[in-house]
Amino acid sequence: MLQFNVTNRNYLLTGFRQNETPSTSETVLAFQALIFINHNKLFLFTMMLHTHLAFAFLISILALKFLSPANQLLFTFILLIGAAFPDIDHPKSRLGQMAWPISLFFEHRGFFHSFFGIAIFTFLLYFVSGSTLYSIAFLLGYASHIFADALNYKGIMPFHPLLKVKLKGFMKTGTFYEHAVFFVLVAVNIFLLLVF
Ligand SMILES: [Zn+2]
Repeated sequence: MLQFNVTNRNYLLTGFRQNETPSTSETVLAFQALIFINHNKLFLFTMMLHTHLAFAFLISILALKFLSPANQLLFTFILLIGAAFPDIDHPKSRLGQMAWPISLFFEHRGFFHSFFGIAIFTFLLYFVSGSTLYSIAFLLGYASHIFADALNYKGIMPFHPLLKVKLKGFMKTGTFYEHAVFFVLVAVNIFLLLVF
């Protein structure tokens, strides 16, 4: 008999008895459990999009003050795109679902979360748009994402794929702390919008 222990939405496969052939439904259940475990693992690897966007918005408010772009809305929009972009390497993220082949070839929090990723994609945007200002917006958003992920306990590999040295912090995704950070960021953003 196939057994599952259900703890905190995690299904742990405890195995078959020796010489026992699983039935079709048991095999299907085993696959479902494996998919569930992988889904949860992937979820834990990624900070939530809204936290990244709230942090990027804070960076944008400060950057607008110093850089004074002609089109502030476009500047902020590109900065937020930069902040969402690195998780394109995650099959469950919104961008990753749209560009799903990327997560087949690139490790999550690998190249797309490295200094090389920041440099190459910012240069590509500059090459295509010819705009220093909007390339800076993208760079700031991208860098804010990498910085925030570096605070997560899973960390990032800034020199991936050359060096697999990790930079990591303490924060776990989807926990009370991340929600608290999100609400503090929103409060600070509203305060700065009112003051600036
Ligand atoms: Zn990320």
